[in-house]
This record gives sequence, structure tokens and C-alpha cells, in this order.
Amino acid sequence: MIPSPFAYARPDTLSEAVHLIQQEKAVVLSGGHSLMTDLKQRRVQPDLVVDINGLALTDVIIEPETISIEALVRQNVLLSEDIANAIPMLADVASSAADPAIRARGTLVGALCAAERQGDWAAAALVLDAQLHLTNAENVKKVAD
Ligand SMILES: Cc1cc2nc3c(=O)[nH]c(=O)nc-3n(C[C@H](O)[C@H](O)[C@H](O)COP(=O)(O)OP(=O)(O)OC[C@H]3O[C@@H](n4cnc5c(N)ncnc54)[C@H](O)[C@@H]3O)c2cc1C
Repeated sequence: MIPSPFAYARPDTLSEAVHLIQQEKAVVLSGGHSLMTDLKQRRVQPDLVVDINGLALTDVIIEPETISIEALVRQNVLLSEDIANAIPMLADVASSAADPAIRARGTLVGALCAAERQGDWAAAALVLDAQLHLTNAENVKKVAD
């Protein structure tokens, strides 16, 4: 199927992205593996698609007790030896979820936002006591569980 018409924006900064996303009927595009299907099947009919792939949100920060994973970290990055040593379950999930093509583009954050019932990442986040940092124009909200 063909998506319904929508405008497209690719912001360079997080503040610009947050501003755009506040618009009614705006959706975020990260890896696109869930969203593109939703668009094509018209389960989602946005007025605006905000492509966040121009943002510098690709870091994984490994600390003694935690790992911070930014919004554009692709799932295949989680296969790295450093991450496997720090939190083996993350690398285990990354090696068994989907396939290499999906993992090369799909993000962990996108998978959590898509919240597909059969998905592996939400279960892993729950088991690992993940905390999500949600950003809007006013603040950053930290959400657990
Ligand atoms: C063929 C195939 C096989 C798959 N197999 C598996 C599997 O075995 N196990 C598994 O767990 N998953 C599987 N998936 C799901 C896959 O992991 C997700 O489609 C993908 O990783 C979602 O991430 P994305 O970056 O592509 O998100 P997108 O498709 O870009 O976005 C998904 C949703 O989240 C929203 N979103 C994305 N990023 C953000 C953000 N930063 N802030 C706010 N909202 C955001 C989007 O608006 C959209 O609604 C499979 C998918 C496909 C197509």
C-alpha cells in the first residue's frame, strides 16, 4: 500500500526536533522498521514525519553500574564486546532479535516506542530495570517500569 500524504522534516538539533514533534499528528522516524510498515498500511496517518537521524544521539556510555543508550543507537551496536561484558543480556537479545538487516538500522529505543507485543526489547528492559528518559520542550522525565 501507499502511505497517506505527509510532510517530512529532518531537524539538526534536539530542541528543533522536540518542537516539531509537539505538532498535532507528528511522528518520529528513527530506524523506520516498524514505522514504515505502519505508514504503508495506513495504521498511522501523520501530518508530519520527523526524521531524527540527523541528531547526534548515537552514544553508548558504559559506567560501573549502568549503561546509557541514546535514541539512535542501532541494535547491532549492542553486540559489541564491551557491552557483552558489561550487560551480557543486552548482547544476547541483540544477537537473537530480528536479523542483521533489521539490527543494522533499527534502534533499541524505536523498538521500545513501537511496543510490539511480540518484541524482545521491552521484556529485556523490564528485566534489566531500565529507566527511560523522555524529553519534551519543558523537561526530561525519568520513567522506570
Ligand atoms: C522483519 C522484521 C523482523 C523483526 N523481528 C524482531 C524480533 O525478532 N524481535 C524484536 O524484538 N523485534 C523485531 N522486529 C521489530 C524491530 O525491532 C523494530 O521494528 C525496530 O527495531 C524498531 O526500531 P526503529 O528504530 O526501526 O523504529 P521506527 O520504526 O523508526 O519507530 C517505531 C515507533 O517508535 C516511534 N519512535 C521511534 N523512535 C522514537 C524516539 N526516539 N522517540 C519517540 N518515538 C520514537 C516511531 O514514531 C514509531 O511509532 C522486527 C521487525 C521487522 C521489520
